[in-house]
Amino acid sequence: MENKGLLIVLSGPSGVGKGTILKKFVNDPSLKLAFSVSMTTRAKREGEEEGVNYYYVTKERFQEAIDNGELLEHAEFVGNCYGTPLKEVERLRNEGKNVLLEIEVQGAQQVMAKAKDALTIFIVPPSMEELEKRIRGRGTESNDVIESRLAKAKGELALKDKYEYVVCNDDVDRAASEITNIIKKHMAK
Ligand code: ADP
Ligand code: 5GP
Repeated sequence: MENKGLLIVLSGPSGVGKGTILKKFVNDPSLKLAFSVSMTTRAKREGEEEGVNYYYVTKERFQEAIDNGELLEHAEFVGNCYGTPLKEVERLRNEGKNVLLEIEVQGAQQVMAKAKDALTIFIVPPSMEELEKRIRGRGTESNDVIESRLAKAKGELALKDKYEYVVCNDDVDRAASEITNIIKKHMAK
């Protein structure tokens, strides 16, 4: 029987570079990671895939998942619902995988309350100007949605000290290597 894997929570404001950093280390075999695929009611972005980035569901199906207790945590973020399927997280952790949740701050606080041993990491931008540049540069949202996400970022950044680690995404490779080292340290405990 393998030891149960870690539960790793990664948060940070929209556009800070979570997805970009994740890609650098998520397939590193020494980290034994499994990315938890969330359920969302938001529309699929170009290049995203069902079951890879998210499970894209209707509002009715999302509500049903809440009612049936299928979600470890869930939250609304700028008009859409997001949640972590509990069963899959448990199955992977029981296989010895370190499960990575890339979730926003409300959901992260629910996980912190339920799983005291979760490893929590918050990613910050070098500055608000740089955050705005990145989210605009990505070009995946309308101007209105970008404004809402930037407004939301201030409140999210205010919660960073609730996390065990705060990592600055000044440089993608440096930030990815810092997170890799944090995970390795916790795997060795
Ligand atoms: P998130 O997943 O946090 O919403 P993304 O990973 O989609 O953010 O990154 C947002 C944009 O910022 C992307 O266009 C990405 O290429 C860019 N980006 C990410 N990290 C950096 C960095 N360290 N320096 C410059 N640009 C970055
Ligand atoms: P996006 O629409 O940019 O993919 O995600 C918006 C926000 O929702 C990000 O902060 C992302 O981390 C968060 N998110 C993604 N999946 C989940 C989830 O399952 N639960 C919660 N609470 N937040 C999530």
